[in-house]
Amino acid sequence: MTCIECGGNLKTRKENYRYLACGLPNVTLAGVEVRRCGTCGDHEVVIPHIERLHEALAMAVVKHEARLNGSEVRFLRKYLGYSGVDFAALIGVSPETVSRWENKKETMGPSAERLLRMLVVHKGPIQQYPIEILTHISANARAKPIGLRPVGEGWVEQELAA
Ligand SMILES: [Zn+2]
Repeated sequence: MTCIECGGNLKTRKENYRYLACGLPNVTLAGVEVRRCGTCGDHEVVIPHIERLHEALAMAVVKHEARLNGSEVRFLRKYLGYSGVDFAALIGVSPETVSRWENKKETMGPSAERLLRMLVVHKGPIQQYPIEILTHISANARAKPIGLRPVGEGWVEQELAA
C-alpha cells in the first residue's frame, strides 16, 4: 500500500492509538490497525464500526463521576447530533452559554449537565428534532387540557371539542 501524501510505502501494524480526532484528549483505541508512511510520517488508522465506537465512548463519558468538561460537553452534543444553536434551544439556554461551556469558560450547571447525560443514555442520537416544540414554550401560553384516545395497543392525542 502507498501513502496518499507522498507515494511512499505504508507499513501496517496494530497499535494503541490516541483517538484525538474525536475531540477528547484522553481516548485510546487499543489494538487498532494503523498504517504509517516511512517516508513522510503520515498515517491513517482503520476504525471499524465508528458509530458503535462513538456510542460506547458517549456511554463511557456519561458514566464518569467527575463533572463534564468542555470537550466532553462538545463531544456529547455532537454525538446527539445537535448544532450548538439547536442544543441551546433544546435545553433552554443561549447559544453563547453553550459556547462558554464548550470553551471551558464556564462550567455547565448541574441540572443542564444531568439533562445532557440523560439525553445520551435514554435517547441517543436524534431521529427527529423536538426543538420546534421546545422553542415554543412560553410563559404567556395558556395551559391546554390533554385528550387521549386508545388506538390499537396504544394511545394517541386527541383534540378535545371546545
Ligand atoms: Zn508519505
